[in-house]
Amino acid sequence: MSELTDLYQELILDHNRRPRNYGVLADATHSARGHNPLCGDKLALYLHLDGDRITGVSFEGSGCAISKASASLMTEAVRGKTRGEAAAIFDRFHAMITAPMDQAVDLESAGKLAVFAGVREFPMRVKCASLAWHTLQAALARDAHTAKTE
Ligand code: ZN
Repeated sequence: MSELTDLYQELILDHNRRPRNYGVLADATHSARGHNPLCGDKLALYLHLDGDRITGVSFEGSGCAISKASASLMTEAVRGKTRGEAAAIFDRFHAMITAPMDQAVDLESAGKLAVFAGVREFPMRVKCASLAWHTLQAALARDAHTAKTE
């Protein structure tokens, strides 16, 4: 596992130890579960949408440091964003972590998510880093069966 040392940057370690937005979202309108069998990462994602906007987001799960840190940073990245904005962030993130090593990636617009740029060296880890985002897509694709109160 020494090859991963370079990936375990301080931000990843911090979000793994103290994941943000962790727990069940009581008033969730959307949710989905994600599983990465290659590594054993599992997570449950909860969203609260007001119209088109993600006003609440949280997750629970177990897995490697990269999967947990990625889920934690994903919740921070998409909270307050519209579906379209969240999809655009995911597109940039996905392009960054799957780009060939000899291709420059746009770290500046990735913000904190740039810490995952190193996973593109490790195809197994790409799945860990993208699990939360695929779960987000699944949750957003699902029509919520929630009673409208207004
Ligand atoms: Zn993993």
